[in-house]
Amino acid sequence: MTLNGKTALVTGSTSGIGLGIAQVLAAAGANIILNGFGDAQPALAEIARQGGKVAHHPADLSNVAQIEDLFAFALREFGSVDILVNNAGIQHVAPVEAFPVEAWDKIIALNLSAVFHGSRLALPGMRARNWGRIINIASVHGLVGSTGKAAYVAAKHGVIGLTKVVGLETATSNVTCNAICPGWVLTPLVQEQIDARAAAGVDPLQAQEDLLAEKQPSRAFVTPQHLGELVLFLCSEAGSQVRGAAWNVDGGWLAQ
Ligand code: NAD
Repeated sequence: MTLNGKTALVTGSTSGIGLGIAQVLAAAGANIILNGFGDAQPALAEIARQGGKVAHHPADLSNVAQIEDLFAFALREFGSVDILVNNAGIQHVAPVEAFPVEAWDKIIALNLSAVFHGSRLALPGMRARNWGRIINIASVHGLVGSTGKAAYVAAKHGVIGLTKVVGLETATSNVTCNAICPGWVLTPLVQEQIDARAAAGVDPLQAQEDLLAEKQPSRAFVTPQHLGELVLFLCSEAGSQVRGAAWNVDGGWLAQ
């Protein structure tokens, strides 16, 4: 399939899953707007190799004014946002009674509210062109809980609820909205959790194996490429009647 002429905005795409998804969409011909913190040059160079147009905007998506600025930039520089992948997300692990209030607020702002703001800003253009795809990178933690992840689990469950509403509100159009729910993917977000176990005295490789063994029956990581290919399917005609879904890619995590 070709996404020539379409523009995809992938939030949180300077590393990890977002970068992987951006690479797959760029290889399919889409122009790409990257977003995220850190040095964007390697990601920009990687995407530019695919031949389409690419730019980076460093908006902090926990800030509504910066999200609005990102969309103004997208319309000014690219003319449209046809595919919105709401991917940026952070984690903090602590029991509820010790959960820092600032960490709660930040996670809800980024992992949930930014998905609402991105959707409300992308939808008018998608409706006007009668084509669009909103793909929210939720998590298995949008469907089940785990200890220590109150804000993350609450936000991701919220994302799945929001996905259903947007999926219903766009149901008679060529705009769709779906959520993807990955299990463990070895990115900086998960590496931090492995490092925390290693810091508590567990051998790093063992810490990685333990993490997988506890939740993911395949005992193998999902990859950003796997997720990118599913995003591509959801952008295709074959995916056009998948609406409001929460699609897990989790090595069997939720089958248990
Ligand atoms: P990551 O830490 O590798 O990447 C996160 C990206 O978000 C980076 O580009 C970072 O710069 C950006 N970011 C962080 N705070 C931001 C902010 N305030 N504004 C804008 N950008 C910001 O993480 P990842 O593992 O690739 O996670 C991506 C998404 O996938 C998240 O929503 C996460 O919850 C979800 N997810 C990850 C896993 C996993 O196992 N890694 C599993 C399920 C779901």
